[in-house]
Amino acid sequence: MIQKKGVLPVFIPFVGCPKRCIYCDQNSITDIKLVNFEYDVENQLKYFLQIKRDWSILAFYGGSFNLLNKTQRLFLYDLAKKYKFNKIRVSCYPSGFDNYLIDEFHKHDVAEIELGVQSFSDKVIEVNGRDYSCDDVIGIINRLKSEGFRVGIQIMVGMYGEKLDDVKKNVEVIRTIDFDYFRIYPTVVFENTKLANYKNNLKFSFEEVIAVSSIYYLLASYKGATVLRVGLHNNSNFQNKIVGGYFHPSFGDIIMTFVIYLYLRINEKNRLCRNFPNYKRVIVKSFDVIYDKKITFSEILKTVWSEYFENNRWEIKGEIFDLAKEFWCKANE
Ligand code: SF4
Repeated sequence: MIQKKGVLPVFIPFVGCPKRCIYCDQNSITDIKLVNFEYDVENQLKYFLQIKRDWSILAFYGGSFNLLNKTQRLFLYDLAKKYKFNKIRVSCYPSGFDNYLIDEFHKHDVAEIELGVQSFSDKVIEVNGRDYSCDDVIGIINRLKSEGFRVGIQIMVGMYGEKLDDVKKNVEVIRTIDFDYFRIYPTVVFENTKLANYKNNLKFSFEEVIAVSSIYYLLASYKGATVLRVGLHNNSNFQNKIVGGYFHPSFGDIIMTFVIYLYLRINEKNRLCRNFPNYKRVIVKSFDVIYDKKITFSEILKTVWSEYFENNRWEIKGEIFDLAKEFWCKANE
């Protein structure tokens, strides 16, 4: 029997969204504009099936699946059945989950629900044009988990109005909730968004974005969640539309390398897994390391969190931020 593997992505940019969040330009990010919803969605699916026949899950990204009208939702469930998918992942806005919708999800093979949380700070959520509260999101996550769904969380770093105290709040909440996978996106400013008007008001330096993203990466991994993505997918079609924020084409690599840097520097280790992340060769330039086949990257992640963060050796604005500066300086030498 052929092993089904991979997530087939279908994008429905902005469909269902209650309003446009100030930073969002899904058309540029996905490089897709829907003209005829049903025709364009099915075409995307057919395209990916031509590349590969056997996928384990069908995902609808780029909009607010839970807030689509019922006709659109039923069309997408039927599409999944027509192409023999028995598992669906949906990207959702964190509001509007009622018993009816949850029953509908169960009935139509929705197994994974990804919530565009972005921040757990009520103030940050509001100034970015979103209308739910931190408590609402925690309630939804708990409910979805208790209903047996796999739950993914997206979090943004360096959002408009975000300060380091808001990061502290995010860390406190993420520590307490149960979730299965995680995505981390540094804020990127696209030219045709409201945020472009405030692009000079973003408070974080790039080094602070590195430090904060690493904290989330470590925490999510420590909690046993899979970190599916760090940074926007590098799509050359959108780079000329970026006018500010913290885009870097190798952002994920930078964060993983910084985690290794912390492991060697703070935890004073010198043994590493094979093929360790090594952005701009910072690690081999800075440390004498030995390969140890018993060590995996996930063990490194857990060690850094449990030996450093869990023991409260960190503070927002503390050592990790200085180390991010040191690291980024070495990367750019
Ligand atoms: S961030 Fe999410 S909810 Fe907001 S406009 Fe973009 S896709 Fe819609």
